[in-house]
Amino acid sequence: MTELITGITTAITMVKSLKDFDKKFKDAEYKNIIADLTIELAEIKIKVSDLMEENNELRNTIKEIKNKEKTKLIFKSGYYFNFNDEGPYCPGCYDLKKQVIRLTEQPKMMHNFGKYRCPVCKSVFK
Ligand SMILES: [Zn+2]
Repeated sequence: MTELITGITTAITMVKSLKDFDKKFKDAEYKNIIADLTIELAEIKIKVSDLMEENNELRNTIKEIKNKEKTKLIFKSGYYFNFNDEGPYCPGCYDLKKQVIRLTEQPKMMHNFGKYRCPVCKSVFK
């Protein structure tokens, strides 16, 4: 996009030099066409600049949406998991305080009481 702006700026400069060159020719219509072309190119430059700005805003919006999607947790089988299927995370802490707390697996001999335990709210999950 920056190259496009540079290209248009160069074109405007070239048209301006054509205007100077044409002083020899006294053709009013020719001068008018060159003047119109200069205005047209200047307007294109402004439009391209606006499009670049809009494009940047859209890129930022897409980035924000992708980041939100990555931090969103999915609830399945009584626990939360992230977009990479990592987890499980504590459903109580996430539902109450939006805290993403990874559950720790209890030693095998403790599984009768619960397989996972939340290190923050101390809840035990089977
Ligand atoms: Zn918890």
